[in-house]
Amino acid sequence: MTNLDAAYEIAEQVCGVCGCPEALPQIRISWCGRLRRSIGTAEEWKGLYDIRLSKRLFALAGWEDCIETVVHEVCHAIDSIVNNRPMSHGDGWKDLMHRCGYPDAQVGWSG
Ligand SMILES: [Zn+2]
Repeated sequence: MTNLDAAYEIAEQVCGVCGCPEALPQIRISWCGRLRRSIGTAEEWKGLYDIRLSKRLFALAGWEDCIETVVHEVCHAIDSIVNNRPMSHGDGWKDLMHRCGYPDAQVGWSG
């Protein structure tokens, strides 16, 4: 995956599947040239969720891994918004991943 439009499309679908379309305007997705060990990260700052994707690892990874990474990070944002708590890999996040079709979500190389 090499363009952010595709990532935003996935984010929009995830928000819809999770029943939280209002989360989408709070999510920003950008490339990060410095991410090397992790393929993606999500950070919250004043109610905005900044998702950074490793441009280098996205160019190397297969399509499925890229999609799962975007879903993984968007689920962090939705979990935090809906459940009003810091981002984690807890039950709220796992439940959202399950709804998106990843019943056995692993942390893997996504942050
Ligand atoms: Zn994570």
